[in-house]
Amino acid sequence: MREFNPFFKKFSKKQKRVAVVYPNRYAGGITNLGLQRIYFEINSDEDHIAERFYTDVFEGLRSVESGSYLDSFSVALFSLQYEEDIFNAFRILKKTQFKGRTVAGGPCVIQNPFPFVHLFDNLFIGDAENAVIDILENRSVEGLFPGSLKRRVVDLDSEMKRQIVSENAYGRSILIEIGRGCPRGCRFCIVRQIYSPTRWRSADEIISIAEENRKAADKIAIISPSPTDHPDFREIVHELKSMGFEVSPSSIRADKFDEEMAELLGDVRTLTLAPEAGSERLREALNKGIDEEDILNAVEMARNAERVKLYFMFGLPGESYEDLDQIIRLVERVRDAGKRVSVSVNPLVPKPHTPFQWMPYGGDWTKDVLGNIKEMRKKRKYLISKLGKIAETDVESVERFAIQTAISRGDERVGDYIERKLTLARIIKSDLIEFLESQPPDREFPWDAVDMGYKKSRLRKEFEMTLKRLEIET
Ligand code: SF4
Repeated sequence: MREFNPFFKKFSKKQKRVAVVYPNRYAGGITNLGLQRIYFEINSDEDHIAERFYTDVFEGLRSVESGSYLDSFSVALFSLQYEEDIFNAFRILKKTQFKGRTVAGGPCVIQNPFPFVHLFDNLFIGDAENAVIDILENRSVEGLFPGSLKRRVVDLDSEMKRQIVSENAYGRSILIEIGRGCPRGCRFCIVRQIYSPTRWRSADEIISIAEENRKAADKIAIISPSPTDHPDFREIVHELKSMGFEVSPSSIRADKFDEEMAELLGDVRTLTLAPEAGSERLREALNKGIDEEDILNAVEMARNAERVKLYFMFGLPGESYEDLDQIIRLVERVRDAGKRVSVSVNPLVPKPHTPFQWMPYGGDWTKDVLGNIKEMRKKRKYLISKLGKIAETDVESVERFAIQTAISRGDERVGDYIERKLTLARIIKSDLIEFLESQPPDREFPWDAVDMGYKKSRLRKEFEMTLKRLEIET
């Protein structure tokens, strides 16, 4: 693990030591700009010093910077990016017998803090910028629970000017968050809900961040849920390229990848696209906003791409084997365009705060939880057998995503199971099974208590529109 531009700070006895824990692998943690920002803010304060923890460095028990054990820190800040990270977080706390204060934040806490309330002293819901020291000192801050259940939202004003640059998923790159939130309306997507409203960083600020970090790398990864939607995307890429940087966006929308974009981004070796569903019917129900023609056009435009990576989901509402066959057909068409194709298919997790929060895991209202799981397993086998013949195929486990669903839609009871390992068999035998079931229209969800800044009736309307379009009776 080699880091460029590291941030050294000398420890003095009067400083409070803060552990910034990413309960997952280094490669993911180092590309997390939110976490880097927290680390930067703590180390910019003279009374505090931060060190980082990752599960693949000393098993997450000792810090990267000095090798100190977690129990020598006063406060531990955990970032929960994925539901299953809670198992690692719990293991680290238990193994180190950490007695200090614990705070957890990140997307899993924002979407629903209640499964974690018994596991941490505080939970933080929202954007932490310019409030990290207040959070550490347990002062009253919007989004800090117990206390506030209002999601904290900040302007994207001043990005940290200095970041740790490492070999990451984008190569040795400077990462620049060009926007937060997403202007699109995909109905399954939690990102558009937990990071709304969409905020774009100005072109001037982006250029100045690139300038500040110039010595650390000559590549820039521009990060946002939908970077190509930035109103000045083309100008920004153009400017960064004229400064001598190689530029790659974290993702490209198929409907934005035209001749000019292909020219601008140059040698795209791997084109990553997310059609999400195989059939137009389901893509429309998801409100994905792209069609097969957009996908095939993008593939054609990316002339130098050797590989196309496609992301799909299964377990969608109203899904039939005909819809799965459409995934296979689309993959074949991309392959026939002369590309090496890799396909990733995940079960849909019907997330809180999305119009799909009322649907059952598996997407079939005529089946109970076990029936849906059984059908999902069958669909998974079907996809593997068909797709495996034509592309590199990865179809995620039905069990794993059921557990993710139960954690994301759960309440305080979930926390009690974390210690004893939450398996699908345990969920099914317990009252946690309700979190995999379809939900009645008037159900009060645990996460309704969080003020996210939207009206639940709007989500319900979108959900009912989807059901109507798919002719589903619930
Ligand atoms: S474009 Fe991507 S980030 Fe935006 S709403 Fe759709 S899935 Fe979510």
